[in-house]
Amino acid sequence: MNLAFKEPATPARSLDSIAEALLLPTGIDGVYARTAMFEQVVGGLMTLISRHCEPDAEVLRFPPVMSRRQVEKSGYLKSFPHFLGCVCCLGGTEAEVNAAADRSDNGGDWTSALAAADLVLSPAACYPVYPLVASRGAVPAKGLTFDVACDCFRREPSKMLDRLQSFRMREYVRIGTPEQVDEFRRAWMTKAQGIANQLALPWQIDNASDPFFGRGGKLMAMSQVEQALKFELLVPIRSADQPTACMSFNYHRDHFGTAWSLRTERGEVAHTGCVAFGIDRLALAMFATHGIDLPHWPVAVRRALSL
Ligand code: AMP
Ligand code: ZN
Repeated sequence: MNLAFKEPATPARSLDSIAEALLLPTGIDGVYARTAMFEQVVGGLMTLISRHCEPDAEVLRFPPVMSRRQVEKSGYLKSFPHFLGCVCCLGGTEAEVNAAADRSDNGGDWTSALAAADLVLSPAACYPVYPLVASRGAVPAKGLTFDVACDCFRREPSKMLDRLQSFRMREYVRIGTPEQVDEFRRAWMTKAQGIANQLALPWQIDNASDPFFGRGGKLMAMSQVEQALKFELLVPIRSADQPTACMSFNYHRDHFGTAWSLRTERGEVAHTGCVAFGIDRLALAMFATHGIDLPHWPVAVRRALSL
């Protein structure tokens, strides 16, 4: 499936020319300080997405770190080891900790004394949901829906403003039968187009795959496309030729259900799916399309964002 752009497809502004009004450098590629104007739009987007929330969704806001064990068990380490960031800390005796810290005074390497903690930086907002649901017992017949968000980390440093190492992700997650998850994903692909139209963004929906690691990963990506497990809503942020994925619609089949022994009331392995909103990318898409003069954005767009 490839739905064509509904609006002129070229970003109206070059991101580089407006960057300093939005994202300030921190000295590390893909990590930025966000300005008040940027955050105003982020807040508007979060509220707009909440307005489309399913009535019985359970809201959870996760911290930017999660259990290392849970990420391992979810299969992330095998599929995306190149993206994962692990928290490392100084341990040992007071003397050992002091010795390591003192080494930095002379430009020495203190990091060799680090040991991996039981935490990783969350790579996606939905990962902590599945073990949490598993701890509650069987999934009820009508299935479960969650509204989750967190700051995510992926080790993909880049000079491009739309490819961040640290970014915010909002997701709706569905857990239930294959039919329930399929219906949820279809409905969200339609709703998402409505949201993009409300925001007057040029968009296109296309089949996609995740950037699985290594040679084996190429096969996994091909299989994902063949089975139509991932779609993305793309908006021209950088250029019309290389539009940027701002939302994704994912069907995991029984992947998380099997990993966490998630069962429906009828005893079948639960299926899962999620719709993910890349909040920073959506905000950038707004500025690339409408410019940085917020008061002059189209009235309907301002209203949609409660600006
Ligand atoms: P994914 O789990 O890869 O489908 O990611 C969900 C959404 O997060 C994507 O549709 C993007 O909008 C956003 N996202 C993923 N990676 C990045 C990144 N490196 N920088 C900014 N946003 C990202
Ligand atoms: Zn997800």
